[in-house]
Order: sequence, then C-alpha cells, then structure tokens
Amino acid sequence: MDLQHWLGRATNAIQDWADTFGPYQPHPSLQVDDDRFATAFEEFTGRLRENYPFFHPHYAGQMLKPPHPAAMVGYLTAMLINPNNHALDGGPATARMEREAVAQLAAMFGYDAHLGHLTTSGTIANLEALFVARELHPGRGVAYSADAHYTHGRMCRVLGMEGHAVPTDDRGRMDLDALEDLLRGGRVGTVVLTAGTTGLGAVDPIHEALLLKERYGVRLHVDAAYGGFFTLLAGVDGPEGLAPEPWQAIARCDSVVVDPHKHGLQPYGCGAVLFRDPEVGRFYLHDSPYTYFTSSELHLGEISLECSRAGASAAALWLTFQLLPPTADGLGRVLAAGRRAALKWAQLITTSDRLELYQQPELDIVSYFPVVDPATLSGIDTASARILADGMTSPDPVFLSTLRADREAFTARHPKITADADSGRILRSVLMKPESEHHVEHIHHQVERLTRS
Ligand SMILES: *Cc1c(COP(=O)(O)O)cnc(C)c1O
Repeated sequence: MDLQHWLGRATNAIQDWADTFGPYQPHPSLQVDDDRFATAFEEFTGRLRENYPFFHPHYAGQMLKPPHPAAMVGYLTAMLINPNNHALDGGPATARMEREAVAQLAAMFGYDAHLGHLTTSGTIANLEALFVARELHPGRGVAYSADAHYTHGRMCRVLGMEGHAVPTDDRGRMDLDALEDLLRGGRVGTVVLTAGTTGLGAVDPIHEALLLKERYGVRLHVDAAYGGFFTLLAGVDGPEGLAPEPWQAIARCDSVVVDPHKHGLQPYGCGAVLFRDPEVGRFYLHDSPYTYFTSSELHLGEISLECSRAGASAAALWLTFQLLPPTADGLGRVLAAGRRAALKWAQLITTSDRLELYQQPELDIVSYFPVVDPATLSGIDTASARILADGMTSPDPVFLSTLRADREAFTARHPKITADADSGRILRSVLMKPESEHHVEHIHHQVERLTRS
C-alpha cells in the first residue's frame, strides 16, 4: 500500500462528498499562511524525531508499533469528517462500522449474543467491566492475579470495591488454589483472569477457573487487552499453535476486554469491552437532556461510560478488518510470526552461555537476563540496565525493555542464583511485529555482544 497515494485518494473522496452540499467560504479567523505553517511544521517534525524507532525490527522493547497502513488511511479519512460515535446522529456510518467490527471481535471469542463497544483504551474497557460487575455483586470485591495489570487495583479504588491480589505460580499464572481459598471467604464477587499478562504474556488457567465460577457463584472477567488476538492461534497446527483450552473458555466467561491498539494493528485510542449477556446494558441507562433525533434503539452512547469517542477509531478498525479480519488466516498470520520469533529467540537463548531465559515465552514476549559472575540478582539488575542503555547508543542499535522481577518470583524460576535484593531488573522484548521473525538472530547476537562490554 502506497500511503501517499491513498492519503491523496482520501482527501479527494471526502472533498467529492463535501461538494455535494454546495460551496461556502471558510472563515478568515481560521486562515493560516502557508509560510508560517511551513515553519511550525518544520519544528514539529523535528521534535517528532525525539522518538524510538517503534516500527523497526531492531526495536524489541515495549508493546509499541505503528498501525497498519489500512488503519492509518481509515482513521485519517474518517477524521476528515470527524464523526463522534457517542450517538447514532454523531456518526451514523462509523457507528454502523463499530457494530460490525465489534461483532467480528465477539465472533473471535465465541460470543453469540453480546453487548459490546469500542473504548478509548483497555483501561476504560476494564473499568466498564468492573463497573458492571459491581452493579451485579454489590458489596463484594474483585480478585486478580499479582501479575495482572495494575489498573485493576487502581480501578477497584475508583469504584470503591475491595481488590485482592492472588499469588501467581512459577510461570506467572494465577494460582487457583490460592484463589479458591480466597473465594471460600465469600468476599469476592468477581474474578479477573488475564489472558496474556503485560509483563510476561502469561495466560491464566481460564478453563479451570470456570469450575470455581459455578462453585462460588462469581463473575469471570477476562482481561485480554494484550493477548486477546492470540485466540486466533488456539489449536492451530505448527509451532506457533497454542493450547486451546484457556482461549476456548473465554466464550463461557461473563466479559472480555481486548485492545485493538495493541495487537489489532490500530492507532492508540482503540480498546473494546464485550459482555456475554446483553441485558447488562440496563446499568448504563442515563437520561440525557441532549436529545438526538434519530435514535430509537439502544445506541452506542447508551452502552458506554465514555461520551464522545472517535468515529475514526471504528473506521480504522473496520477498514483493517476488511483486509485482515480477526481469523486464523487473516490477523492470525501476523501474530503467528511474532510467536515464532519468540520461540526462535528462546531457543537461541537456551543454548547461549551469555544469556539465560527467565521463563519460556507463552505468547510473543521473551524474558531473559545476562549471565553474571558472581550469580546474584543485584548483578543481573545492574547488567540488564547497562545492556538496555548501551543497546540504544550502539552503532548498530537494539532497543529492549526491562522488567522488575521480585525476589520470590525470581527464585521460583532460578533457585541457584543468589537473590541478594528485594527485586531486580531483567530484560524483556515484546516481539509484536511480524518482521521480528527475520531479525531475532541478529538481535540475539547484538545482545550477546552487549553482555561482553
Ligand atoms: C495494556 C493493558 C491494559 C491497559 O490497557 P490500555 O489500553 O493501556 O489502557 C490492561 N490490561 C492488560 C493485560 C494490558 O496489557
């Protein structure tokens, strides 16, 4: 896709549409002189250079990458109109696109009837799921794993609910025995299961938690903000295939959150929440004094805590899904490549005498640390931080990230290393670009080289 060509086509298409409404004069107050704009633009693009190259395969750090060109063109084209998906009248076309794209997400998770919508982020999507959970289980708290995203603890405070962190096992997954102990106390009404933790990509045993749902009458919410699209690799043939059980179990949970702005090739501003029971829409009801003239059915503004939302986000997702739908053959191929990259790198690290794997990657996040002598956690911490910094300034740069592992978590995985500190930083690489598949060998050798200096 040639971005310049399609951006030109976008402005023409919207201008052609605009012309059908007759000519008018733009107001002089908005007039901007081209020379002055050029000066501002020069400074603007100069400032944007102060960024890390998220697009480049040698960027193997945080969860960052540019959107797909189809998403860029979809977003910018709709933005020329700037519809607001708060209400049908704010953006009839993009509201319809939102419903269609959300239905595709629902189908991916095996939800038939559903209530769902896009949100500005995974944070807001999870807030909505916890808000509904509170309405259904007033006075009862929320359990989430110690490795769950920190947003859950914070949002419990926002919602005035009690939050409980459940210990994780030596792979970073929720310990269901510890969860059951907690559930016996009767104070928990909702369990948040994470499908792909932000740190390590660990997937909680969702299928096993289903039994506890029945036994203790709790709601199950799945935070798949990061990992949701990996559902597409569940049971797939080949090394990238994932054990299907936890992913299939999402269909039987009460709600799920996924971030198209993480693994759905979208620009920021695109999360999603889905409820299995459409009846929960009643909790959102409001009595807006701003009457809209065409809405008769429950519109998107009536099932969302946010009011104004970019119709352009829905447009970008809809257009992307026309080309790369959330199916194994579509978007699944993009995730499969990142997953193969993670497996390949894990293999290289396993045979390296300079690096050690922190744990086997479950999705596409590789965690590892430099071998140091003497073998202490504080030594690993210092060396990891140095490699991170040196990598970015090297003539052949490589961009990594660090992850803080606490003493217990570290020792559970590496009992032979002296845990002489409360916690220590290790290295972490999110391989969310399919191009990583062809660059991990290079990155691996770069990181090995950096351990020597
Ligand atoms: C990223 C993430 C969030 C927060 O989502 P935002 O889109 O960053 O607001 C919540 N949970 C998990 C598991 C995540 O990876």
